[in-house]
This record gives sequence, C-alpha cells and structure tokens, in this order.
Amino acid sequence: MKKYTLAIHGGAGAIPPTVPEDQKILYFEALEKILKYGNKLLKKGETALNTVELVVNKFEDCPLFNCGKGSVFTFDGGHSMDASIMDGKNRQCGAVTGITRIQHPVSLAKDVMSNSKYVFLNGKGAEEFAKELGYKFKNKKYFDTVKRYEQWRLVQGSDKTSLDHNAEFAAAPKGTVGAVALDIYGDLAAATSTGGMTNKKWDRIGDSPVIGAGTFADNSTCAVSCTGEGEEFIKNVIAFDIHALMMYKGLSLKDASEYVTHKVLKKGIGGLIAVDKEGNFSLPYNTLGMYRGVATSKGIFEVKIWE
Ligand code: ASP
Repeated sequence: MKKYTLAIHGGAGAIPPTVPEDQKILYFEALEKILKYGNKLLKKGETALNTVELVVNKFEDCPLFNCGKGSVFTFDGGHSMDASIMDGKNRQCGAVTGITRIQHPVSLAKDVMSNSKYVFLNGKGAEEFAKELGYKFKNKKYFDTVKRYEQWRLVQGSDKTSLDHNAEFAAAPKGTVGAVALDIYGDLAAATSTGGMTNKKWDRIGDSPVIGAGTFADNSTCAVSCTGEGEEFIKNVIAFDIHALMMYKGLSLKDASEYVTHKVLKKGIGGLIAVDKEGNFSLPYNTLGMYRGVATSKGIFEVKIWE
C-alpha cells in the first residue's frame, strides 16, 4: 500500500483541561469526524491538494472553530476571514483576505491559485472574483454565532484584540484551522483558514493567508500550517523557516519544526502542523494546548487537545 499522512489543527490555545466533560467531548468528536473524513479521502486516492481543501471546508462549516461559520467578530461587529492553500508539487498557491460572505474561503483561495493569474486577492476584489466564478454568497448573519458574540462583547469598544487562548476567553470556543497532507502519489499540500483575532481593527491581516508565514508546502521538504499570534508568525516567516532548515541545513521535520516552535517563537504564541515527503509528521505548540489530529496509512489515528 502506498503511504499517506494527514495532520489537522483546530487552533492553538485550546480550552483548559478543567472545562466540563460535555464541552471537551464536542471538540474531540468534531476533530475525530473531520480526521476520519480526510483519512478516507487519502486512502481512496484523493490528492493532497483536494484533501486539505475538503478537510478545511468541514472545519469551515463547524461553529466550534474560528473559521467560516465559527469566525470571530471584528472591531465593528462583522467577520473578516482569511485563507490560503499551497501545492507542494509545483509551489502553486492561492490566498484570500477580508472575506465576508463566502462559506468556504479556502476554496476561493484554491480558485485564485487555479483560475486566476494571481496569488493573493483582498476583500471586495476577492468577492468580485468569487461572483464571476458563480459562488453563492451567504447572508452576513450566517457567520454570527452566540459564543463568538459573547466573546467579542467582553472587549467590544476597547483597543484589545485577542487570540482565543488569552485567559479572558477561556470559556469561549476557539480555533483557526489547517490541514497538511502527503498523498499516495508522493505529493504534499497545506491549507489554513481563519476568522483572525477577536476585535481586530483596520482590516488587520494575520499570518494565515500569508504564504511562507502561515502556510507553506514544497515536495522537497514539507507542508506546514500554523496557528497562533499571526504577527509573530509573519515576522519570523515561520512556515518557510521550517522548509529552509530542512532544505539548507538538512534538519529532520521534527527537529526543524520543534526548533522553530520552541526557539524562534516565544512561549505562548502558537503552534503548527507539518508533514514531510516520507510521511513523518510533527505537531508542536507552545501554548496551553492545540486542537490537533493525525492519521496515516500505517494505521495511526489520534486526536489530542493537550499533551
Ligand atoms: N493565526 C491567526 C491570526 O493571527 C489566529 C489563530 O491562529 O488563532 O489571524
């Protein structure tokens, strides 16, 4: 049997282990369901690129995670979503930012890659492009969820922006999402989708749609999707840094991803998921927890939030 590996994340900075059992179960069940779905796709021969898109679509429809339907509120009470995708086979990539009415921003990012001559589209223009492609637009209310609203109300009107893992949001649902995969053809791909940070202002853009910072894939080394304080991931070009350590210094996936997570990033900033062309995986983080899961052709199937 040809080998494959899928890793997923639902955001760094998870609920604390002390939350009631029924809340934990919700997250474990959602992660397991999504991982099972992606595992099946790879097993039956779906490409890494399509798999990471389809897996992220499932997250985008799940209100527990900070992307698509579960996106956090912006400073002015709206939602502004970012996403990106990269094909390790040829370094083709696509990204969108400031999306307000598209159910699956990562699919729009994939269309930017496949159906335009550009890599990165923003807000109004990105949605005009979507319209030309025949995308259906959601009513803005579709993206409102009670938990996210309550989370935003805690800081509404203030200058505070926040990642989910800040203590004051401990009770709220969380999670930028991502998926990375090696398919049975030996190709790698990565995708990331997010609602960004609660109460973000001035059309702030994080790392998730920035190729090299939040997402990167190259068949010669690895596929990476990041989560955490976007500004730090952009400054340190985190996803590309892992590729560079492997490419130019010959580090293993594990050593490169752990070095970047624990030595380059400060504690409490975030985490990432990564796979290499051999099917090895690494899911390091330096926050309290990170929603994550991995499935491989060798029969590994696990979902974790904390250690
Ligand atoms: N990285 C995302 C951002 O900065 C947030 C997250 O991963 O939770 O927009």
